[in-house]
Amino acid sequence: MTHRHWLPAMGIWAVLAVSALAAPHKALIVDGQNGHDWKGTTPSLKKLLEETGLFSVDVATSPPKGEDMSGFRPDFAAYDVVVSNYQGDEWPEETKKALVDYVQGGGGLVVYHFACAAFPNWEEYNDMTGLGGWGGRNEQAGPYVRWRDGKIVRDMTPGRGGGHGPSQPFQLIIREPNHPITAGLPEKFMHVSDELYGWLRGPAKNLAVLATAFAPKEKGGSDEHEPLLMTIQYGKGRVFHIALGHTAEELKSVAFIVPYQRGAEWAATGKVTQKVPDDFPGPDEARVRE
Ligand code: ZN
Repeated sequence: MTHRHWLPAMGIWAVLAVSALAAPHKALIVDGQNGHDWKGTTPSLKKLLEETGLFSVDVATSPPKGEDMSGFRPDFAAYDVVVSNYQGDEWPEETKKALVDYVQGGGGLVVYHFACAAFPNWEEYNDMTGLGGWGGRNEQAGPYVRWRDGKIVRDMTPGRGGGHGPSQPFQLIIREPNHPITAGLPEKFMHVSDELYGWLRGPAKNLAVLATAFAPKEKGGSDEHEPLLMTIQYGKGRVFHIALGHTAEELKSVAFIVPYQRGAEWAATGKVTQKVPDDFPGPDEARVRE
């Protein structure tokens, strides 16, 4: 998009590209309650989207925990992608229906870190997120999803949904190299010290595992390759689920930033136009942007 400005002193029209107005897609971050520091992470999530030049970003902040939610009605349908940084009280039925209709009808959704713990009893939410944890989730929620011997295994072993050992650096391994989000990324890349989510379980319908990390038992893990970057097809909509990023500190990791930025674009449009940056990490050493 361009703007024409009349410059009287020079008697000419200057045609200026205005980058803020040029952002082709609209994103909405939803927050307001979370067992995590949403006030610390939302500004980073917003800045990272704006940095791509692809998104203008709004934030919808719910009332605090325990307060009246009846007026919380974000206009999801006005956006190309909704990023959930929300985990807390139930939304009004109309708001839930609006999100389901939006994604079902072709909208994009990004499920970020502890958003996977939200709404354990909202069936459509669990269908959209694919896998979740905590909130009393167990085998009733669906299978664990494991990567074993080169393929996805749905494991119905009874047990808790959601867990992790102490924060630790870990390496992600791409399992779906031909997806637009992962195309061109190195097969293995290091992330900073972060929570390595494990034992997630859920309906896991129409779910693709883009990347996993191995969670060693001696570091509090499951001894499995845990799915950490995923996509879910929900109706005509696209969902990108990223389990990384405990606090704003972990969001400085290029192994978070690039999949997040690419995943948001894919959720919004079905394509990824962003180039893989030169600072993308290899298999051994994490990279951080200040
Ligand atoms: Zn966390």
